[in-house]
Amino acid sequence: MHGLMMDFPLTLAAIFRHAERVFPRRAIVTRRADRSIHRHTYADFAGRARRLASALQNLGIRPGDRVATLGWNHYQHLEAYFGIPLMGGVLHTLNLRLHPDELAFIVNDADDKAVLVDRTLLSLWEKVAPKTRVRHVIVVGADGEPEKNRREYESLLRDREPLGDRPDPDERAAAAMCYTTGTTGKPKGVLYSHRALVLHTFAISLSSGIGIAEHDVVMPVVPMFHANAWGLPYAAAMQGAALVLPGPHLDPASLVDLVERERVTITAGVPTIWMGVLQLLDENPGAHDLTALRAMLVGGSAIPQAMIEAFEKRHGLRVVHAWGMTETTPFGIASHVPHDLKDAPDEVKYRQKAKQGRPSPFVEIRARNENGLIPWDGTTMGELEVRGPWVASAYYNRDDCGDRFTGDGWFKTGDIVTIDERATMSIQDRSKDLIKSGGEWISSVALESALMGHPAVAEAAVIPVASLKWTERPLAAVVLKSGASVSPDDLRAFLAPHFPKFWLPDAFEFIDAIPRTSAGKFQKSALRSRFKDYQVA
Ligand code: AMP
Repeated sequence: MHGLMMDFPLTLAAIFRHAERVFPRRAIVTRRADRSIHRHTYADFAGRARRLASALQNLGIRPGDRVATLGWNHYQHLEAYFGIPLMGGVLHTLNLRLHPDELAFIVNDADDKAVLVDRTLLSLWEKVAPKTRVRHVIVVGADGEPEKNRREYESLLRDREPLGDRPDPDERAAAAMCYTTGTTGKPKGVLYSHRALVLHTFAISLSSGIGIAEHDVVMPVVPMFHANAWGLPYAAAMQGAALVLPGPHLDPASLVDLVERERVTITAGVPTIWMGVLQLLDENPGAHDLTALRAMLVGGSAIPQAMIEAFEKRHGLRVVHAWGMTETTPFGIASHVPHDLKDAPDEVKYRQKAKQGRPSPFVEIRARNENGLIPWDGTTMGELEVRGPWVASAYYNRDDCGDRFTGDGWFKTGDIVTIDERATMSIQDRSKDLIKSGGEWISSVALESALMGHPAVAEAAVIPVASLKWTERPLAAVVLKSGASVSPDDLRAFLAPHFPKFWLPDAFEFIDAIPRTSAGKFQKSALRSRFKDYQVA
């Protein structure tokens, strides 16, 4: 027997109408490339997004066509986040940190019909464009009408009437697309449906997710070109939270200034961003009033426990650690202190918060090693598998990735994890970064996290190097804080109380900087090739 409820599709169009009708006066604030501040409201945004939808239709974009964006976090990008899906197009965000050849591959793979490019990124686009078939180039933030066959965003909008409400699309229709920035192989497209994005928006709005409400002022530092800015633009619109979009100025001083001036309550980004912010706050204690800020969401890479403690103890700022992937839209798991640990000693709580956390409702997890599914004992390691309504079931245009999905409908993440009896997941490694010494696994992430708790260490990455006796042994590449010094023996002694003896790195190399991926994560493949001839006993 079926229930007798309306078959009302879950679409971004419904979130859009809600923001437009219920929260017209909430603010959207952008710091532009020239550092000027642009302010408008959800009412302004909605009118402009409708005009963009209409303009795209007029250019001949049809439902299902991919429309790319190459831009920073700003109000025009937000208009594209909604305007493109409103007319049935698929928003395809391009990662501006990629190499032009890689971008050209992605644009061609997605078969993008049009692209919205920031004026400040035109020189990058020039290197990509000749290798692609994109027909319409729309320049955002241009001063006048651009030359040749390009259109200027503002004049495009001015020329059109706003698109009226139309029947909503099928909730399973594609609304957005991102490519994974994997360190091996070609980038792979992940195609998000309206339904997946809507349910994901609900999940991150819950207090067990990020927790977003109307009185919040949300500043996504995580780029809108990476994994939907973790879904924050959609959640802010659905909940009526104000948005602060930081544009291209992501240095610690600019970010702290915006948080202070705009009374930001929730912000989100990768650990690298917050490392810089922490340093700034430490150097100028009490100089900034960040009292409005109630949560800093950190994900994308593991955050060292020492950093969570430093923010909370020294600056009264609450850090929420979360895990996700492009393939999971991206949010899957968040680290909130479980109820039965609420009165536990601080040390226990901090250890818990440094883990990746417990799954969101509708995200199911399990992990597997060579002996089958692992017990949830907090020590056995296995590869994490996930399933849920916002988890990819396949990659776009690829039939060679079947090994990433199990026969019974789970996605294999490539993350090596433990899960404890509270369902808390703790990442030990990426499967390809694991160090296997004498048949035993060593978690490079745990060693890195501990090393970054040493007062002389700014950053540390641990990689496997060849060993005659053990096949692989850990090498720690360490970046020291300016003016600090420390010896390998000191670092080994610092780690020793916390790890089995065989985990302690055999070698320490002091380097200037850890290479990073386009998403700001440690690029261990670059370190591995740098130290590929390294040999320890
Ligand atoms: P991406 O698809 O680029 O967002 O990368 C996803 C990968 O980032 C995951 O498979 C993890 O390896 C890593 N990752 C994401 N969040 C975390 C986290 N909180 N701690 C450690 N690694 C993370």
